[in-house]
Amino acid sequence: MKNNDCIFCKITNGEIPSVTIYEDELFQVILDRGPASKGHALILPKQHYEDIYELSEEMTAKAFVLAKKLAEKMTKALSCDGFNIVQNNKEASGQTVFHFHIHLIPRFINDDAKVGWTVHDITEEEMQSIAKQLNF
Ligand code: AMP
Ligand code: ZN
Repeated sequence: MKNNDCIFCKITNGEIPSVTIYEDELFQVILDRGPASKGHALILPKQHYEDIYELSEEMTAKAFVLAKKLAEKMTKALSCDGFNIVQNNKEASGQTVFHFHIHLIPRFINDDAKVGWTVHDITEEEMQSIAKQLNF
């Protein structure tokens, strides 16, 4: 399934050019056009899924196994010092393109890429209360 208004569907359709570094029957991996670091790439499923909530467990497993494999290959090829794997879902998380994707971000000592969050204080009671709420 494709979405006519989706920029990543247009890329996987070949309607919009991309620099592809890996492709198989399910995924296309392209270089990000607004890279956080040298080699920043995106794993795109060829079919349209808005976010992880729409992705089947099977596709999720395949996408993250591919992320691991590419992280290893890219680390060797680029001689990077570390690696961030980032995946945003919904506007609140920072997602801007609503076609599931995994960011592969090679990291270099002293690079200026920013992947992080503000650290907050939390009490023991608050932690216990959250754990209770999340007791699956
Ligand atoms: P997110 O904020 O997680 O939705 O990430 C969307 C990413 O897509 C950003 O890092 C953008 O730089 C990237 N992006 C948007 N349009 C294109 C494009 N045409 N080709 C490659 N990367 C793109
Ligand atoms: Zn799409």
